[in-house]
Amino acid sequence: DVPAAGKVSTRFDLEKETELRFEVEAGEAAEQVELELLTGMAEVFGSELNRNKKYTFGAGSKIAVFTWQGCSVNLYGKPEVAYVSKDTPMLLYLNTHAALEQMRKQAERDNERGPRVMVVGPTDVGKSTVCRLLLSYAVRVGRRPTLVELDVGQSGVSVPGTVSALCIERPADVEEGFSVQAPLVYHFGSTTPGTNIKLYNKLTSCLAEVFSQRCEVNRKASVGGCIINTCGWVKGSGYQALVHCASAFQVDVVLVLDHERLYNELKRDLPHFVRVVLLPKSGGVVERSKECRRDARDEKIREYFYGFRGVSFYPFSFEVRFSDVRIYKIGAPSIPDSCLPLGMSQDDTQLKLVPVTPGRDLTYHVLSVSSAEDGEEGARKGIVESPVCGFIVVTYVDTQTQVMKVLSPAPRPLPRHTLLIMDIRFMDMK
Ligand code: ADP
Repeated sequence: DVPAAGKVSTRFDLEKETELRFEVEAGEAAEQVELELLTGMAEVFGSELNRNKKYTFGAGSKIAVFTWQGCSVNLYGKPEVAYVSKDTPMLLYLNTHAALEQMRKQAERDNERGPRVMVVGPTDVGKSTVCRLLLSYAVRVGRRPTLVELDVGQSGVSVPGTVSALCIERPADVEEGFSVQAPLVYHFGSTTPGTNIKLYNKLTSCLAEVFSQRCEVNRKASVGGCIINTCGWVKGSGYQALVHCASAFQVDVVLVLDHERLYNELKRDLPHFVRVVLLPKSGGVVERSKECRRDARDEKIREYFYGFRGVSFYPFSFEVRFSDVRIYKIGAPSIPDSCLPLGMSQDDTQLKLVPVTPGRDLTYHVLSVSSAEDGEEGARKGIVESPVCGFIVVTYVDTQTQVMKVLSPAPRPLPRHTLLIMDIRFMDMK
Protein backbone atom coordinates (compact mmCIF):
# COMPACT_ATOMS: atom_id res chain seq x y z
CA ASP A 1 0.00 0.00 0.00
CA VAL A 2 3.04 2.23 0.14
CA PRO A 3 3.23 4.55 -2.88
CA ALA A 4 5.97 3.70 -5.34
CA ALA A 5 9.33 5.05 -4.31
CA GLY A 6 10.13 8.47 -5.62
CA LYS A 7 6.56 9.53 -6.18
CA VAL A 8 5.99 13.11 -5.18
CA SER A 9 3.21 13.69 -2.74
CA THR A 10 1.06 16.80 -2.64
CA ARG A 11 -1.33 17.65 0.11
CA PHE A 12 -4.60 19.49 -0.45
CA ASP A 13 -6.74 20.93 2.32
CA LEU A 14 -10.31 21.33 1.12
CA GLU A 15 -12.93 23.55 2.67
CA LYS A 16 -16.49 22.30 2.88
CA GLU A 17 -18.41 22.07 -0.37
CA THR A 18 -15.36 22.27 -2.58
CA GLU A 19 -13.70 19.72 -4.82
CA LEU A 20 -10.23 18.73 -5.88
CA ARG A 21 -10.12 17.99 -9.60
CA PHE A 22 -7.26 16.11 -11.15
CA GLU A 23 -6.43 14.43 -14.40
CA VAL A 24 -4.02 11.62 -15.03
CA GLU A 25 -1.98 11.92 -18.19
CA ALA A 26 -3.25 9.76 -21.07
CA GLY A 27 -1.19 7.18 -22.91
CA GLU A 28 0.63 3.96 -22.20
CA ALA A 29 3.60 5.54 -20.48
CA ALA A 30 1.52 7.62 -18.08
CA GLU A 31 2.29 7.33 -14.42
CA GLN A 32 -0.66 6.36 -12.23
CA VAL A 33 -1.80 8.75 -9.55
CA GLU A 34 -2.77 7.66 -6.07
CA LEU A 35 -5.25 9.39 -3.81
CA GLU A 36 -5.48 9.14 -0.04
CA LEU A 37 -7.97 10.72 2.33
CA LEU A 38 -6.09 11.93 5.42
CA THR A 39 -8.74 13.68 7.50
CA GLY A 40 -12.42 14.48 7.22
CA MET A 41 -14.82 12.96 4.71
CA ALA A 42 -14.89 13.06 0.93
CA GLU A 43 -16.45 11.29 -2.02
CA VAL A 44 -15.66 10.58 -5.65
CA PHE A 45 -18.75 10.85 -7.83
CA GLY A 46 -21.05 9.82 -4.99
CA SER A 47 -18.92 7.03 -3.49
CA GLU A 48 -17.37 7.68 -0.10
CA LEU A 49 -13.62 7.41 0.40
CA ASN A 50 -12.15 5.37 3.22
CA ARG A 51 -9.51 7.08 5.28
CA ASN A 52 -5.88 5.98 4.88
CA LYS A 53 -6.60 3.83 1.88
CA LYS A 54 -4.78 4.51 -1.37
CA TYR A 55 -6.91 4.66 -4.47
CA THR A 56 -5.15 4.28 -7.80
CA PHE A 57 -6.20 6.04 -10.99
CA GLY A 58 -4.78 5.08 -14.36
CA ALA A 59 -4.04 6.91 -17.60
CA GLY A 60 -6.69 9.34 -18.77
CA SER A 61 -8.70 9.39 -15.52
CA LYS A 62 -10.51 12.62 -14.75
CA ILE A 63 -11.53 12.72 -11.14
CA ALA A 64 -13.25 15.05 -8.69
CA VAL A 65 -12.89 14.56 -4.93
CA PHE A 66 -15.77 16.41 -3.34
CA THR A 67 -16.24 17.12 0.34
CA TRP A 68 -19.40 18.23 2.14
CA GLN A 69 -17.69 18.88 5.46
CA GLY A 70 -14.07 19.64 4.57
CA CYS A 71 -11.12 17.26 4.39
CA SER A 72 -7.48 16.90 3.52
CA VAL A 73 -6.14 14.51 0.93
CA ASN A 74 -2.79 13.52 -0.54
CA LEU A 75 -2.04 12.89 -4.19
CA TYR A 76 0.98 10.71 -5.00
CA GLY A 77 2.52 11.02 -8.43
CA LYS A 78 2.29 13.76 -11.01
CA PRO A 79 -1.20 14.48 -12.24
CA GLU A 80 -1.47 16.43 -15.48
CA VAL A 81 -3.55 19.01 -13.63
CA ALA A 82 -4.76 19.28 -10.07
CA TYR A 83 -6.69 22.20 -8.61
CA VAL A 84 -9.34 22.95 -6.06
CA SER A 85 -12.63 24.47 -7.15
CA LYS A 86 -15.27 26.13 -5.02
CA ASP A 87 -17.62 26.42 -7.92
CA THR A 88 -19.43 23.09 -8.27
CA PRO A 89 -23.05 22.17 -8.98
CA MET A 90 -22.92 19.38 -6.38
CA LEU A 91 -25.49 21.03 -4.14
CA LEU A 92 -27.96 21.14 -7.04
CA TYR A 93 -27.23 17.49 -7.80
CA LEU A 94 -27.77 16.58 -4.16
CA ASN A 95 -31.06 18.45 -4.16
CA THR A 96 -32.06 16.53 -7.25
CA HIS A 97 -31.32 13.31 -5.41
CA ALA A 98 -33.37 14.54 -2.44
CA ALA A 99 -36.33 15.28 -4.72
CA LEU A 100 -36.09 11.81 -6.31
CA GLU A 101 -35.89 10.27 -2.86
CA GLN A 102 -39.09 12.09 -1.90
CA MET A 103 -40.75 10.56 -4.95
CA ARG A 104 -39.57 7.10 -3.88
CA LYS A 105 -40.95 7.62 -0.38
CA GLN A 106 -44.26 8.68 -1.82
CA ALA A 107 -44.27 5.69 -4.18
CA GLU A 108 -43.67 3.42 -1.22
CA ARG A 109 -46.54 4.97 0.70
CA ASP A 110 -49.04 5.01 -2.14
CA ASN A 111 -48.07 1.68 -3.64
CA GLU A 112 -46.98 3.37 -6.85
CA ARG A 113 -43.80 3.20 -8.89
CA GLY A 114 -40.70 5.24 -8.16
CA PRO A 115 -39.18 7.91 -10.40
CA ARG A 116 -38.00 7.10 -13.88
CA VAL A 117 -35.38 9.63 -14.78
CA MET A 118 -33.82 10.40 -18.14
CA VAL A 119 -30.52 12.30 -18.20
CA VAL A 120 -29.92 14.20 -21.44
CA GLY A 121 -27.52 16.71 -22.93
CA PRO A 122 -24.78 17.03 -25.53
CA THR A 123 -21.56 15.02 -25.25
CA ASP A 124 -19.15 15.81 -22.44
CA VAL A 125 -21.46 17.56 -20.02
CA GLY A 126 -21.15 14.91 -17.37
CA LYS A 127 -24.27 12.84 -18.07
CA SER A 128 -22.70 9.54 -17.08
CA THR A 129 -21.22 11.15 -14.00
CA VAL A 130 -24.59 12.55 -12.89
CA CYS A 131 -26.16 9.11 -13.44
CA ARG A 132 -23.45 7.49 -11.34
CA LEU A 133 -23.90 10.10 -8.61
CA LEU A 134 -27.68 9.72 -8.42
CA LEU A 135 -27.49 5.92 -8.48
CA SER A 136 -24.83 5.80 -5.76
CA TYR A 137 -26.78 8.22 -3.55
CA ALA A 138 -29.91 6.12 -4.06
CA VAL A 139 -28.24 2.83 -3.05
CA ARG A 140 -26.62 4.55 -0.11
CA VAL A 141 -30.09 5.22 1.29
CA GLY A 142 -31.11 1.62 0.69
CA ARG A 143 -32.76 1.84 -2.73
CA ARG A 144 -32.30 -0.55 -5.64
CA PRO A 145 -32.42 1.65 -8.73
CA THR A 146 -31.76 0.44 -12.26
CA LEU A 147 -29.22 1.99 -14.61
CA VAL A 148 -30.38 2.04 -18.20
CA GLU A 149 -27.45 2.66 -20.52
CA LEU A 150 -28.47 3.97 -23.93
CA ASP A 151 -25.13 5.57 -24.82
CA VAL A 152 -23.97 3.23 -27.59
CA GLY A 153 -20.72 5.17 -27.97
CA GLN A 154 -19.50 5.10 -24.38
CA SER A 155 -21.36 2.43 -22.47
CA GLY A 156 -20.61 2.25 -18.79
CA VAL A 157 -22.02 -1.26 -18.61
CA SER A 158 -20.97 -3.34 -21.60
CA VAL A 159 -18.90 -3.07 -24.76
CA PRO A 160 -19.65 -0.21 -27.17
CA GLY A 161 -22.41 -0.83 -29.70
CA THR A 162 -24.82 -2.13 -27.09
CA VAL A 163 -27.64 -0.85 -24.93
CA SER A 164 -28.22 -2.36 -21.53
CA ALA A 165 -29.81 -2.33 -18.10
CA LEU A 166 -28.21 -3.09 -14.77
CA CYS A 167 -29.70 -3.36 -11.28
CA ILE A 168 -27.59 -1.33 -8.90
CA GLU A 169 -27.09 -2.97 -5.53
CA ARG A 170 -24.11 -1.12 -4.11
CA PRO A 171 -22.45 2.24 -4.67
CA ALA A 172 -19.94 2.48 -7.49
CA ASP A 173 -16.43 1.42 -6.57
CA VAL A 174 -14.24 4.53 -6.34
CA GLU A 175 -11.71 3.14 -8.81
CA GLU A 176 -13.75 0.79 -10.95
CA GLY A 177 -17.30 2.12 -11.10
CA PHE A 178 -20.38 -0.08 -10.74
CA SER A 179 -19.98 -3.79 -10.37
CA VAL A 180 -21.38 -5.28 -13.53
CA GLN A 181 -23.13 -8.51 -12.71
CA ALA A 182 -25.80 -10.00 -14.90
CA PRO A 183 -26.62 -6.96 -17.01
CA LEU A 184 -29.29 -7.21 -19.68
CA VAL A 185 -27.56 -6.37 -22.95
CA TYR A 186 -28.86 -5.88 -26.49
CA HIS A 187 -26.90 -5.71 -29.71
CA PHE A 188 -27.02 -2.41 -31.55
CA GLY A 189 -23.89 -2.79 -33.64
CA SER A 190 -22.39 0.66 -33.99
CA THR A 191 -21.29 3.62 -31.91
CA THR A 192 -23.91 6.11 -33.01
CA PRO A 193 -27.70 5.72 -32.97
CA GLY A 194 -27.84 7.42 -36.37
CA THR A 195 -26.63 4.36 -38.23
CA ASN A 196 -29.96 2.66 -37.52
CA ILE A 197 -32.38 4.81 -35.60
CA LYS A 198 -35.27 2.37 -36.03
CA LEU A 199 -33.26 -0.36 -34.36
CA TYR A 200 -32.14 2.03 -31.63
CA ASN A 201 -35.73 2.96 -30.81
CA LYS A 202 -36.80 -0.66 -30.98
CA LEU A 203 -34.14 -1.68 -28.45
CA THR A 204 -35.11 1.22 -26.18
CA SER A 205 -38.64 -0.16 -26.21
CA CYS A 206 -37.37 -3.68 -25.47
CA LEU A 207 -35.44 -2.44 -22.43
CA ALA A 208 -38.45 -0.43 -21.24
CA GLU A 209 -40.67 -3.47 -21.51
CA VAL A 210 -38.30 -5.75 -19.62
CA PHE A 211 -37.82 -3.11 -16.93
CA SER A 212 -41.58 -2.64 -16.53
CA GLN A 213 -42.08 -6.39 -16.26
CA ARG A 214 -39.44 -6.56 -13.57
CA CYS A 215 -41.12 -3.71 -11.69
CA GLU A 216 -44.36 -5.65 -11.66
CA VAL A 217 -42.80 -8.57 -9.81
CA ASN A 218 -40.15 -6.75 -7.80
CA ARG A 219 -41.40 -4.02 -5.51
CA LYS A 220 -37.92 -2.73 -4.61
CA ALA A 221 -37.02 -2.33 -8.29
CA SER A 222 -40.28 -0.54 -8.90
CA VAL A 223 -39.81 1.91 -6.03
CA GLY A 224 -36.13 2.40 -6.88
CA GLY A 225 -37.04 3.51 -10.38
CA CYS A 226 -34.43 3.99 -13.05
CA ILE A 227 -31.83 6.44 -14.25
CA ILE A 228 -31.43 6.45 -18.01
CA ASN A 229 -28.16 7.62 -19.56
CA THR A 230 -28.54 8.77 -23.14
CA CYS A 231 -26.39 9.66 -26.14
CA GLY A 232 -25.03 13.14 -26.74
CA TRP A 233 -26.86 13.42 -30.06
CA VAL A 234 -29.68 15.83 -29.32
CA LYS A 235 -30.77 17.05 -32.76
CA GLY A 236 -33.03 15.64 -35.48
CA SER A 237 -33.49 11.90 -35.11
CA GLY A 238 -31.34 12.00 -31.99
CA TYR A 239 -33.88 14.31 -30.41
CA GLN A 240 -36.74 12.12 -31.63
CA ALA A 241 -35.01 9.15 -30.00
CA LEU A 242 -35.04 11.02 -26.66
CA VAL A 243 -38.76 11.73 -27.03
CA HIS A 244 -39.32 8.09 -27.92
CA CYS A 245 -37.34 6.97 -24.86
CA ALA A 246 -39.33 9.27 -22.58
CA SER A 247 -42.54 7.72 -23.79
CA ALA A 248 -41.31 4.09 -23.84
CA PHE A 249 -40.12 4.33 -20.23
CA GLN A 250 -42.91 6.69 -19.23
CA VAL A 251 -40.32 8.86 -17.58
CA ASP A 252 -41.38 11.22 -14.79
CA VAL A 253 -38.29 13.40 -14.71
CA VAL A 254 -35.90 14.62 -17.39
CA LEU A 255 -32.63 16.18 -16.29
CA VAL A 256 -31.21 18.39 -19.02
CA LEU A 257 -27.55 19.18 -18.57
CA ASP A 258 -26.34 22.50 -19.83
CA HIS A 259 -28.52 22.91 -22.91
CA GLU A 260 -31.26 25.49 -22.72
CA ARG A 261 -32.70 24.90 -26.15
CA LEU A 262 -33.00 21.17 -25.55
CA TYR A 263 -34.68 21.97 -22.25
CA ASN A 264 -37.24 24.20 -23.95
CA GLU A 265 -37.89 21.71 -26.72
CA LEU A 266 -38.48 18.85 -24.30
CA LYS A 267 -40.74 21.01 -22.16
CA ARG A 268 -42.76 21.78 -25.24
CA ASP A 269 -42.90 18.23 -26.61
CA LEU A 270 -43.24 16.01 -23.54
CA PRO A 271 -46.55 15.61 -21.68
CA HIS A 272 -47.09 18.28 -19.02
CA PHE A 273 -46.76 15.85 -16.09
CA VAL A 274 -43.12 15.13 -16.99
CA ARG A 275 -40.86 17.31 -14.91
CA VAL A 276 -38.13 18.74 -17.11
CA VAL A 277 -35.28 20.24 -15.10
CA LEU A 278 -32.33 22.24 -16.40
CA LEU A 279 -29.10 21.62 -14.50
CA PRO A 280 -25.71 23.22 -15.02
CA LYS A 281 -22.76 21.08 -15.97
CA SER A 282 -19.79 20.91 -13.71
CA GLY A 283 -16.84 23.09 -14.67
CA GLY A 284 -14.71 20.04 -14.01
CA VAL A 285 -16.08 18.00 -16.89
CA VAL A 286 -13.37 17.72 -19.46
CA GLU A 287 -14.03 17.62 -23.16
CA ARG A 288 -12.68 14.48 -24.71
CA SER A 289 -11.19 14.32 -28.18
CA LYS A 290 -12.30 11.85 -30.84
CA GLU A 291 -9.14 9.84 -30.21
CA CYS A 292 -9.78 9.84 -26.49
CA ARG A 293 -13.26 8.47 -27.07
CA ARG A 294 -11.99 5.84 -29.48
CA ASP A 295 -9.33 4.76 -27.00
CA ALA A 296 -11.97 4.50 -24.27
CA ARG A 297 -14.07 2.25 -26.53
CA ASP A 298 -11.09 0.07 -27.32
CA GLU A 299 -10.25 -0.17 -23.64
CA LYS A 300 -13.79 -1.27 -22.84
CA ILE A 301 -13.52 -4.17 -25.30
CA ARG A 302 -10.07 -5.07 -23.99
CA GLU A 303 -11.48 -5.17 -20.45
CA TYR A 304 -14.23 -7.48 -21.58
CA PHE A 305 -11.69 -10.05 -22.73
CA TYR A 306 -8.71 -9.43 -20.49
CA GLY A 307 -10.18 -8.04 -17.27
CA PHE A 308 -9.49 -4.89 -15.40
CA ARG A 309 -6.99 -3.85 -12.75
CA GLY A 310 -6.71 -6.63 -10.17
CA VAL A 311 -8.86 -9.08 -12.11
CA SER A 312 -7.26 -10.75 -15.11
CA PHE A 313 -9.25 -12.86 -17.54
CA TYR A 314 -7.67 -15.33 -19.91
CA PRO A 315 -9.66 -15.42 -23.12
CA PHE A 316 -9.68 -18.38 -25.47
CA SER A 317 -8.84 -18.56 -29.12
CA PHE A 318 -10.38 -21.27 -31.27
CA GLU A 319 -11.64 -22.07 -34.72
CA VAL A 320 -15.24 -21.90 -35.77
CA ARG A 321 -16.51 -23.47 -38.98
CA PHE A 322 -18.62 -21.19 -41.15
CA SER A 323 -21.14 -23.98 -41.44
CA ASP A 324 -21.64 -24.05 -37.66
CA VAL A 325 -22.76 -20.44 -37.30
CA ARG A 326 -25.15 -18.00 -38.87
CA ILE A 327 -23.92 -14.44 -39.06
CA TYR A 328 -26.30 -11.55 -39.59
CA LYS A 329 -26.18 -7.83 -39.88
CA ILE A 330 -29.26 -6.00 -38.66
CA GLY A 331 -30.59 -3.60 -41.26
CA ALA A 332 -30.36 -3.65 -45.02
CA PRO A 333 -28.92 -0.61 -46.76
CA SER A 334 -31.77 1.77 -47.44
CA ILE A 335 -33.14 1.79 -50.96
CA PRO A 336 -35.52 4.28 -52.54
CA ASP A 337 -39.14 3.77 -51.50
CA SER A 338 -40.10 3.14 -55.11
CA CYS A 339 -37.82 0.11 -55.23
CA LEU A 340 -39.16 -1.56 -52.10
CA PRO A 341 -41.09 -4.78 -52.58
CA LEU A 342 -44.84 -4.29 -52.39
CA GLY A 343 -46.09 -4.01 -48.81
CA MET A 344 -42.66 -3.37 -47.32
CA SER A 345 -41.69 -0.12 -45.68
CA GLN A 346 -38.32 1.46 -44.97
CA ASP A 347 -38.80 0.49 -41.30
CA ASP A 348 -38.85 -3.16 -42.20
CA THR A 349 -35.53 -2.92 -43.96
CA GLN A 350 -33.85 -1.31 -40.94
CA LEU A 351 -34.87 -4.19 -38.70
CA LYS A 352 -34.25 -6.88 -41.26
CA LEU A 353 -31.67 -9.59 -40.65
CA VAL A 354 -29.28 -9.70 -43.54
CA PRO A 355 -27.16 -12.87 -43.74
CA VAL A 356 -23.44 -12.16 -43.91
CA THR A 357 -21.22 -14.41 -45.98
CA PRO A 358 -17.98 -14.81 -44.05
CA GLY A 359 -14.98 -13.36 -45.87
CA ARG A 360 -11.68 -11.71 -45.06
CA ASP A 361 -13.41 -8.42 -44.32
CA LEU A 362 -14.91 -10.03 -41.24
CA THR A 363 -11.48 -9.93 -39.59
CA TYR A 364 -11.30 -7.87 -36.37
CA HIS A 365 -15.06 -7.32 -36.23
CA VAL A 366 -16.78 -7.71 -32.90
CA LEU A 367 -19.68 -10.19 -33.06
CA SER A 368 -22.46 -10.47 -30.52
CA VAL A 369 -23.56 -13.97 -29.64
CA SER A 370 -27.35 -13.81 -29.61
CA SER A 371 -29.19 -15.65 -26.88
CA ALA A 372 -31.89 -16.54 -29.40
CA GLU A 373 -32.43 -20.26 -29.70
CA ASP A 374 -30.61 -21.78 -32.63
CA GLY A 375 -32.85 -22.77 -35.43
CA GLU A 376 -33.61 -22.26 -39.03
CA GLU A 377 -35.60 -19.57 -40.79
CA GLY A 378 -38.56 -19.64 -38.42
CA ALA A 379 -36.37 -18.86 -35.44
CA ARG A 380 -34.98 -15.75 -37.09
CA LYS A 381 -37.94 -13.87 -35.80
CA GLY A 382 -37.08 -12.50 -32.42
CA ILE A 383 -33.33 -12.34 -32.89
CA VAL A 384 -33.34 -8.54 -32.98
CA GLU A 385 -35.27 -8.42 -29.70
CA SER A 386 -33.19 -11.12 -27.99
CA PRO A 387 -30.52 -10.11 -25.50
CA VAL A 388 -26.95 -11.15 -26.20
CA CYS A 389 -25.06 -13.64 -24.07
CA GLY A 390 -21.54 -12.50 -24.95
CA PHE A 391 -19.13 -11.20 -27.57
CA ILE A 392 -16.36 -12.64 -29.71
CA VAL A 393 -13.84 -11.04 -32.04
CA VAL A 394 -12.85 -12.55 -35.37
CA THR A 395 -9.06 -12.69 -35.49
CA TYR A 396 -8.51 -14.63 -38.71
CA VAL A 397 -10.59 -15.85 -41.62
CA ASP A 398 -9.61 -18.73 -43.87
CA THR A 399 -11.94 -18.80 -46.83
CA GLN A 400 -10.23 -21.90 -48.25
CA THR A 401 -11.02 -24.13 -45.32
CA GLN A 402 -14.16 -22.15 -44.46
CA VAL A 403 -13.04 -21.53 -40.94
CA MET A 404 -12.56 -18.43 -38.81
CA LYS A 405 -10.52 -17.99 -35.68
CA VAL A 406 -12.16 -16.12 -32.80
CA LEU A 407 -11.23 -14.60 -29.48
CA SER A 408 -13.78 -15.64 -26.88
CA PRO A 409 -14.18 -15.18 -23.12
CA ALA A 410 -15.25 -18.81 -22.77
CA PRO A 411 -13.80 -22.02 -24.22
CA ARG A 412 -15.39 -23.71 -27.21
CA PRO A 413 -18.08 -24.48 -28.15
CA LEU A 414 -19.99 -21.24 -28.60
CA PRO A 415 -23.10 -21.26 -26.39
CA ARG A 416 -25.28 -20.28 -29.35
CA HIS A 417 -24.75 -20.11 -33.07
CA THR A 418 -26.49 -16.94 -34.11
CA LEU A 419 -23.96 -14.12 -34.40
CA LEU A 420 -24.64 -10.45 -35.05
CA ILE A 421 -21.94 -8.37 -36.64
CA MET A 422 -20.93 -4.95 -35.32
CA ASP A 423 -19.38 -2.10 -37.29
CA ILE A 424 -16.92 -1.96 -34.43
CA ARG A 425 -13.53 -3.59 -34.76
CA PHE A 426 -10.99 -4.61 -32.19
CA MET A 427 -7.36 -5.34 -32.90
CA ASP A 428 -5.84 -7.43 -30.22
CA MET A 429 -2.39 -6.05 -29.56
CA LYS A 430 -1.56 -8.30 -26.63
P1 ADP B 1 -20.89 12.53 -20.74
O1 ADP B 1 -21.53 11.29 -20.22
O2 ADP B 1 -21.81 13.70 -20.78
O3 ADP B 1 -20.20 12.34 -22.06
P2 ADP B 1 -19.05 12.11 -18.53
O4 ADP B 1 -19.95 12.03 -17.36
O5 ADP B 1 -18.55 10.82 -19.09
O6 ADP B 1 -19.74 12.95 -19.70
O7 ADP B 1 -17.85 13.07 -18.13
C1 ADP B 1 -16.74 13.32 -18.97
C2 ADP B 1 -15.44 13.22 -18.18
O8 ADP B 1 -15.36 14.25 -17.20
C3 ADP B 1 -15.27 11.92 -17.43
O9 ADP B 1 -13.96 11.46 -17.64
C4 ADP B 1 -15.50 12.28 -15.96
O10 ADP B 1 -14.73 11.46 -15.11
C5 ADP B 1 -15.02 13.71 -15.93
N1 ADP B 1 -15.69 14.52 -14.88
C6 ADP B 1 -17.01 14.62 -14.62
N2 ADP B 1 -17.25 15.49 -13.62
C7 ADP B 1 -16.05 15.95 -13.22
C8 ADP B 1 -15.59 16.89 -12.23
N3 ADP B 1 -16.46 17.52 -11.43
N4 ADP B 1 -14.26 17.12 -12.12
C9 ADP B 1 -13.39 16.49 -12.92
N5 ADP B 1 -13.73 15.62 -13.87
C10 ADP B 1 -15.04 15.34 -14.04
